[in-house]
Amino acid sequence: MLKFDESARIVAAESHFVAGGVNSNFRLGMGHGPLVFTHGEGAYLHDVDGNRIIDYYCGMGAMVLGHSPAEVKAAVREQLEKGILFAGQAPIEYEAARIICERIPSAERLRFGSSGSEVAQAAMRLARAATGRRTIVKFEGHYHGWFDNILWSTAPALAEAGPDEAPHLVPGSKGQSMADASGLDVLQWNDLAAVETRLARGDIAAVLMEAAMCNQGAISPMPGYLEGVQTACRRHGVILIFDEVITGFRLGQKGAQGRFEVTPDLSIFAKAIANGFPVAAIVGRAELMDLFATGGVLHGGTFNSQPVPMAALVATQQALTPEHYEKTAIHGIRLRDGIRSILAEAGIKAQVTGFELMFHIAFSLDAPARNYRDLARADKAGYARFAQALLRNGVRALERGAWFVSSEHDGAVIDRTLEAVRIAAREVAPTLPG
Ligand code: PLP
Repeated sequence: MLKFDESARIVAAESHFVAGGVNSNFRLGMGHGPLVFTHGEGAYLHDVDGNRIIDYYCGMGAMVLGHSPAEVKAAVREQLEKGILFAGQAPIEYEAARIICERIPSAERLRFGSSGSEVAQAAMRLARAATGRRTIVKFEGHYHGWFDNILWSTAPALAEAGPDEAPHLVPGSKGQSMADASGLDVLQWNDLAAVETRLARGDIAAVLMEAAMCNQGAISPMPGYLEGVQTACRRHGVILIFDEVITGFRLGQKGAQGRFEVTPDLSIFAKAIANGFPVAAIVGRAELMDLFATGGVLHGGTFNSQPVPMAALVATQQALTPEHYEKTAIHGIRLRDGIRSILAEAGIKAQVTGFELMFHIAFSLDAPARNYRDLARADKAGYARFAQALLRNGVRALERGAWFVSSEHDGAVIDRTLEAVRIAAREVAPTLPG
C-alpha cells in the first residue's frame, strides 16, 4: 500500500505561498490530497514519497506520448539553443501550422495560442464578429475553459439545473454574475430537436460543443446528431464550433471531426497537440480565420507560437502517425475491456464507455449516459473511493472517472494496472449499493 505523507507535508507547508498548495483548482481534488512529483518516465510518475505510480491523468490528457518522449525532448533542446521568444515569426511555427492544417479537416487556416480556455474565447469572438449576433449555444456538462463568460452549466447540481427541456444557466464559480452569461444559452447535448428549435429563433451566433463529450464522461454523439446540428447551423447562418481540446489527437490523427466525419466551421485544440507543452490552436474556414488578419477581429498573446513549444508540436505530430494510433489502440482497448470485465466479476455495476485512448467509468448506471443529466446520476462517491484504492495500489486515474492512455502504456503496464483494478474492485465492492 502506497503512502503519501511527504506530499501531504509539502503541500501543507507550501500552502503558505501557493493558494491551497496547487496552481489549478482541478489539482485539489484527490481524496489523498494533491501529490508532489519529482519526475515522470514513460507511463510512470515518481513522487516525493518515493512511489512509482502508473499515471492515467497523462497531464489531464495532454501526454499522449507519455512522460518522456525522446523525440519531443530532443526537438525542444535543439530549438532552445536557437532562442526563446522573438515577438516575431519563426520557420518552426509555419512548419507547425502546415502539419495541423494538413491533418485537421476543418483547418484551412489557424492561429496558435497557449491554452484551451484562451482559444475558446477567440472562437466565440470570431463567431460573433462573423455573424453580427451575440448568443452562443453551449451544452450542459461541456467545459470550454474557466473564463467568466463560458464557465456555465459545466457540472451543475441537478436540483439547480432546471427542467430537461429548458436548462438553467448555472455558474461554475463564485464571483460570476448573470451578466457574464448574457451571451449564452444552454441546452442538453445529443438532443437534435432542442438545437433545431433554438436555432430557428434566428439570433444565434454559434453552437459550441465537444463533438464527443469527454471533459465529463466519454459520450459519443448519437447517430446523426452532429450531422443534424451542422445542417441546422447552415440553415440558420450559425457557426459550428467543435472544442477538440480533449478529443484532438486522442480520438485519432484527425480528431473527433475526422472520426465522425463532420467538419465544423471552427475548432479549437490544445492538450495533446504538443504533448504537454502549452500550445493551443483555433482553426477553421479561411474566410472566418481571415477576420483576424483583415476583418478587425483582435487576437493576441505574448507567448503565442513560442518557438520551443512549436518544436514540441512538430515532433509530437510527427510521432502521431496512423500506425502509432493503431498500435496504441490495442493496449487502450485491452485496458478498457479488461476493467469492464473485472468490475462485472466483482459485482460492481458500471458503465465503461469511450474510446481507445480515452474512456470513462461511471458506477451504478444501468445504461450508458447520453448526456450530462444521465451521467450526473452515477455514484460519484463510490467511484472516488475506487480511484483512491487504485492510487494506494500504484495506479493514478482521475476521480471523476476519466482514463487517458498514452503510447507508453504497453502490455506490461496494462497487466499491472489490471491487477491493481482487481484489488481495488474487491476492496470497494462491499461498500457500494447492490
Ligand atoms: N475545452 C475542454 C474540452 C477542456 O477539457 C479544457 C480543459 O480541460 C479546456 C477547453 C480548457 O483548456 P485549458 O485548460 O488549456 O485552458
